[in-house]
Amino acid sequence: MAILVVGSVAFDAIETPSGRRDRCVGGAATYFALAASYFTPVRVIAVVGEDFGPEEESVLTRRGIDTRGIEHVPGKSFFWSGSYMKNLNEAQTLNTELNVFQSFSPKIPAEYRDSEYLFLANIDPVLQADVRGKMPKVKMVCGDTMNYWIRDHQENLARVLEHLDALLINDAEAKMLAHENNLVLAARRILAMGPKALVVKHGEYGATSFFGEQAFLGEKCRTPFRAPALPLAEVVDPTGAGDSFAGGFFGYVASQPQLTPAVFRRAMFYGGVMGSFAVERFGTERLQALDPKEIEDRFALFRQLSHLD
Ligand code: AMP
Repeated sequence: MAILVVGSVAFDAIETPSGRRDRCVGGAATYFALAASYFTPVRVIAVVGEDFGPEEESVLTRRGIDTRGIEHVPGKSFFWSGSYMKNLNEAQTLNTELNVFQSFSPKIPAEYRDSEYLFLANIDPVLQADVRGKMPKVKMVCGDTMNYWIRDHQENLARVLEHLDALLINDAEAKMLAHENNLVLAARRILAMGPKALVVKHGEYGATSFFGEQAFLGEKCRTPFRAPALPLAEVVDPTGAGDSFAGGFFGYVASQPQLTPAVFRRAMFYGGVMGSFAVERFGTERLQALDPKEIEDRFALFRQLSHLD
């Protein structure tokens, strides 16, 4: 079952204690699409500038990702630079240049219309809402956002949250969105804004899901669920870990015939698995050529990590 994703496709400049890269292909939609591509077909809606050529696009097409919805326009691609020198768990944004995304009006190619799953990756909530509105019949819609949009675009973001089955964000952003420092209370407030489920990512400490009052997965799923993250000896570059988590999570959900509580929980493990690969190398390097067996082996490791007889 195909997932349609809208979000940033970008160039990133990254510095971490392991080194620096001045220009990697990045963006939330890129990481999401690569991670999800190991589970299900993926189609991307985004815009790039003249600096984004066939070589850059091949990062996606080599994984069989459908890029017919990536528009090429005059100008520069989205550019983000971030540093993890102070804290490996949270990016410090040094610069965000929206560039061609500033005047982007998403168009859905005819070939994408039958997509059953929609992921609103990190980008201007106005664009997220626009794509959501153009895909009214999807079976499930999940979304992500970040401090940049939470801070100054709350009203637009509220219009996106109303229509989400699940929101996936990191814990600092959840607390910022809810204006609440306690995670459980923050989750309650966010669920009251619309999403039926909330998946809070805790970086190196895993992820927790919370469920709202609305019907979703049935009564059995009211208890929060926590999935682990893999303790790693070296985190080379945390960029994209959250988007890769989302790709593993939603890719696995879309690959299954039905969304059950068990599928949701396994999806959280697959999210952790893909996030753990993403951070092992700079940029998208590790996600570009994984062997499906590596994914299954790591999933088994995640099971062992948290198994109780
Ligand atoms: P993550 O580390 O999973 O939160 O995502 C990192 C990716 O998000 C990078 O590749 C950036 O290009 C992209 N990004 C950073 N800031 C923004 C923003 N304000 N809107 C959309 N994408 C962004």
